[in-house]
Amino acid sequence: MKLYNEYSIFLKEKYGEKVYKLPVNIPCTCPNRDGTIGYGGCTFCADVGTGFEMLENTISVKEQIEKNMQYISKKYKAKKFIAYFQNYTNTYLRLEEFKKYINEAVGKNIVEISISTRPDCIGSEYLEFLKEVKDLHDVNISIELGLQTANYHTLISINRGHTLAEFIDAVMRIKKYGFEVCTHVILNLPGDDIIDAKETAKILSVLKVDQVKIHSLYIMENTKMGILYKNKEITVIDEEEYVERVIVFLEHLDKNIVVQRLVGRAPEKNSLFVNWGMSWWKIKDDILEKMENEGRHQGSKSIKNYTAS
Ligand code: SF4
Repeated sequence: MKLYNEYSIFLKEKYGEKVYKLPVNIPCTCPNRDGTIGYGGCTFCADVGTGFEMLENTISVKEQIEKNMQYISKKYKAKKFIAYFQNYTNTYLRLEEFKKYINEAVGKNIVEISISTRPDCIGSEYLEFLKEVKDLHDVNISIELGLQTANYHTLISINRGHTLAEFIDAVMRIKKYGFEVCTHVILNLPGDDIIDAKETAKILSVLKVDQVKIHSLYIMENTKMGILYKNKEITVIDEEEYVERVIVFLEHLDKNIVVQRLVGRAPEKNSLFVNWGMSWWKIKDDILEKMENEGRHQGSKSIKNYTAS
């Protein structure tokens, strides 16, 4: 029995070969930074947004894709790609601008366009347009939504600017268009415990999201969380506890949900805390080894219905 539903295997089965993501960086911001929803952003968010391995946004989308495609094709002999709009809130810009950027991403060898955004920032005009793109160009569309945790008290304390309700609303609206939904979660936010990891997995399962990306918290300089961390007003759980939370999360996650990532990757530059000073693959190995040794796997404790005998 497989330990968890791995993204690389899912992609290979879906597209018949290995598929690579090409990060795309467009000039946009976030309504939780510019005052529309809030100022300063989520307490963990550095002013580079959440993506860091990408080209400058002054380069056109077309050129960014061509450059990255050329590099990855040469390195891995890759033929199929996902254009990944990763940084900040990629639907928080005028519809005409959004259309222009998405149209530039459509092209030969692009099998999917993945757009990262906030749950309270994905209006129906944007979804309608994406449906047209999907139908016209036969390209898959996936939407990545940041939720981070289902604990709405924690969502308030990290200044997300939305709670669980907006996330549920977004998933239900996106699903009507037949797009895949990937959800980002951070399983070791200060204020959360293992019950929150469990409940988050259960809520994602009942909402039938398609994929999840699990991150471990990283704390950057010049963020609100960075200040709290330096002042010792927050602490981060140890690696052993993180490993256990990931496993409990997976056990409560429906077995059909694809898992893109078990641990976050973060820049070490300007960071105050990243992955306990360990490499992400060592933490991933620890998770898999523990699951193997203890006979635990994804979906083994997902929601069931009972009938009286
Ligand atoms: S929603 Fe995303 S981009 Fe906006 S402040 Fe939060 S983490 Fe940063």
